[in-house]
Amino acid sequence: LFITVEGGEGVGKSTNMAFLEERLRGLGVDLVVTREPGGTALGEELRALLLQPREEPMAAAAELLLIFAARAQHIEQVIEPALAAGHWVLCDRFTDATYAYQAGGRQLPVSLVRELEQLVQGELRPDYTLLLDAPVDVGLSRAGERGELDRIEREQAEFFERVRATYLQLAEESSGRYRCIDASRPLDAVQSDLQGFCAELGQC
Ligand code: C5P
Repeated sequence: LFITVEGGEGVGKSTNMAFLEERLRGLGVDLVVTREPGGTALGEELRALLLQPREEPMAAAAELLLIFAARAQHIEQVIEPALAAGHWVLCDRFTDATYAYQAGGRQLPVSLVRELEQLVQGELRPDYTLLLDAPVDVGLSRAGERGELDRIEREQAEFFERVRATYLQLAEESSGRYRCIDASRPLDAVQSDLQGFCAELGQC
């Protein structure tokens, strides 16, 4: 199975990735845990380039192409071999993040993301996607408490509203692939939902 975890800023993605990893390993699953952008040496170099503050902002299309470059390497080197060997892959962000951030947030044409998705992924799509969803002000204030505001302040709140709206739209249109979790609740409520999801997967 190929499982991805998505969400905006400050929704608790890292904490809940760790929780999911522990629970899935507890099912006795051979699990590969990875992330995007990143997941390979080249991918991590590209991630560093993408996140590096710069005086002249990176062009949105340059960002998009670097993200798909990292993804191409990640699929060939990590995701496809793991799935072919019968492992499960748990990935922190995947192409839905590109729809949400680059098409939704940065307002690049969706058709461009679709074409690159086709080129780089062929038929590969996640089996399940967990969306950790919270209102933008909740997420941004949590991220702010962690000192991530320097980077985040470069983006506007409307940007993150578009990111969230795109994720919610993808979830609605996904015909069963998505599990949308209200991440504005206390952590134990969120993790009780995640536990339910893992139990469901345990039947697979
Ligand atoms: O997943 P994580 O929060 O570590 O990602 C780091 C940052 O990369 C995000 O906060 C987001 O701003 C950015 N990102 C992006 N476009 C993507 C994926 C991530 O702008 N497709």
